[in-house]
Amino acid sequence: MNPQRETKAINELGKTPQELLIALAGNPNSGKTTFFNQLTGAHQHVGNWPGVTVERKEGTVDILGVRFRIVDLPGIYSLSAYSQEEMIARDFLISGGVDVVVNVVDAANLERNLYLTMQLLELGVPLVIALNMIDEAEKRGQHIDTAKMSRLLGVPVVPTQARAGIGTDRVLAEALELVRQPRKSRPHATRYHPTIEAEITRLEKTLRTAADCPLPSRWLIVKSLEGDEDALNRLAVWAEDGEAARASIESTRRHLETHLGESLETVIADSRYGFIEGLLREVVRFKKAREAITITDRIDAVVLHPWLGIPIFLALVLLTFELTFGLGGLVSGAIEEAVSTLAAHLRAVLPDTPLRSLLLEGVIPGVGGVVVFLPNICILFAAISFLESSGYMARAAFLMDRLMHAMGLHGKSFIPMLMGFGCNVPAIMATRTLESFEDRVLTIMVLPLMSCSARLPIYILFTGVFFGRRAALVIFSLYALGIILAVLSGKLLRRVFFAETSSAFVMELPPYRLPTLKGTALDVWERAWIFLSKAGTVILAASVVVWALGSLPWGVPFGSEQSLAGKLGKLLEPLVAPLGLDWRAAVALLFGIAAKEIVVSTLGILYSAPSHAAERLSTADAVARSFTPLTAYAFMAVSLIYVPCAATIAAIKRETNSWKWTAFTVCYTVCLAYVVGLVIYQVGRVLGVG
Ligand code: GDP
Ligand code: MG
Repeated sequence: MNPQRETKAINELGKTPQELLIALAGNPNSGKTTFFNQLTGAHQHVGNWPGVTVERKEGTVDILGVRFRIVDLPGIYSLSAYSQEEMIARDFLISGGVDVVVNVVDAANLERNLYLTMQLLELGVPLVIALNMIDEAEKRGQHIDTAKMSRLLGVPVVPTQARAGIGTDRVLAEALELVRQPRKSRPHATRYHPTIEAEITRLEKTLRTAADCPLPSRWLIVKSLEGDEDALNRLAVWAEDGEAARASIESTRRHLETHLGESLETVIADSRYGFIEGLLREVVRFKKAREAITITDRIDAVVLHPWLGIPIFLALVLLTFELTFGLGGLVSGAIEEAVSTLAAHLRAVLPDTPLRSLLLEGVIPGVGGVVVFLPNICILFAAISFLESSGYMARAAFLMDRLMHAMGLHGKSFIPMLMGFGCNVPAIMATRTLESFEDRVLTIMVLPLMSCSARLPIYILFTGVFFGRRAALVIFSLYALGIILAVLSGKLLRRVFFAETSSAFVMELPPYRLPTLKGTALDVWERAWIFLSKAGTVILAASVVVWALGSLPWGVPFGSEQSLAGKLGKLLEPLVAPLGLDWRAAVALLFGIAAKEIVVSTLGILYSAPSHAAERLSTADAVARSFTPLTAYAFMAVSLIYVPCAATIAAIKRETNSWKWTAFTVCYTVCLAYVVGLVIYQVGRVLGVG
């Protein structure tokens, strides 16, 4: 729109000086028309917006000694120039003739409704927010602190019930107040990503807009960067040099998109939602309806108790590990027995050929050594499945939200992190529920620190050998170590890469349900199947490779330092020696990158090699001789933290769509693992443990 047309649009309003022109803006169904009818009663007329068949309602009301002319704008979700309705509403709002915009907001659907509010705030028009349908919100147990909301947004906020006519007059009173005493402070609009903010500031300086431009230059720039053609045209009209303005918006846009790795439109929208979430966290409180106390409420009163909640959660986790370890151990023992019987049998009947060596020194210790842990995995997943489908996991996420938020992570991140205990790959995919790119990248980067089930065999092997009755507690400590590191890393990485953004979410808490046996069985079966097929493929292949490396060049004692594996390990040994680890551990960690179970199979192959000891040893016995409790703990910690497996690395690349973040995650985890391993071993040695 050119300036001439704009002036004409204002004249078309035909406003007399004694009148205040109020525009009602809001989402469809927020109650604008009800609000409008309530105020204007019979004093209204319905027409069409010029040139289009969109209905235009206008009316007047005389109150507080002033005549208010009220225009009911079409319902819109945004101020972009996509639909006819949005164009009409926007043209009207930026025509400059409107004295006050009343933003009618559906209080029961705040998050969606506030998106438009954010844009109205950016537009910088005098604004009063009518928090309509406040009765609906209360009915849903939401209490909204309107005074605080008003403070945080820098504009008046009035709770209303348009249908009952409650609060509508007060809205007009606030509007009048705004006109009589315009606020000096600017409304608090969204701050964007620091890089974007820097560019906006730069553009504001270089593209000086004419002094009489009716629109804030910041708004024109943000809109143009969002790819809004109409805004760009306006900017070109009002800027000193229109063509230069177009060119520099275009190049800035391209520059920012490459930098942020996402469309600018998305990034900007995400920031607005991020702001809204943070706001909601501050102003919305949930209350329990007093009537109808359900079983769910009774359980929640205990498990969500401010002090008891987290201890109960931790106790449940500990119980899960006790079951996994204790009960699982009984069945594992039987499988182990069977595997060694099979090995003994093969040893007796097979002739001394490379095949015999492959089976006895490669496949059986490699694959067999991992399959033994199947019962533990099944029990762990039965427990997780139970907690999940009963509805407890959602409570756990709720409990953790406060903690996560305090640590710079998004509350919603907790769910992917919880999933990460199963497998990091689907967990990384689950971060799609996070709206902002920053929160996603951050969560993805710390996710590999969640102890997935592939790490469990390592823990069980070592804790079984070294920690006896305290095994479950030690495993618990490793999971906790992962979580603590994730939380600290989240905080650190946000500091380093992203500005501190306050974001929050409203957690839905489903009612408790008794899980079905069938559902749990299916979950367990699915996990068991993934585990077994991995054993039959990746782990089998890796076992063959490790065996080959241990056997070549042909003729050297298997798994000795003269073998290729030995040479490779010796190369790495100086690196891991400060952690108290030997070359075999180094080779195991190296191969573990393919899949973490392979750490155990490689240990099984290399340590049970006959050359390592006079007699053939089981993996457990071999480990017992080569590690101490201290080095075992350091080794478990390193296995937990260092490089996620190949599949996880691939998932990170896919989901962040960036080699930079992928490479960073790999480097970060390796360095972190090294530092943690070093600290555990060296401090342990100084303290004389081990
Ligand atoms: P518009 O399309 O945004 O103009 O919304 P309407 O004015 O048509 O209202 C949509 C629905 O919300 C109608 O059924 C109204 O009766 C209802 N409504 C409006 N205000 C309130 C309110 O304050 N409380 C409740 N509970 N319902 C309301
Ligand atoms: Mg309507």
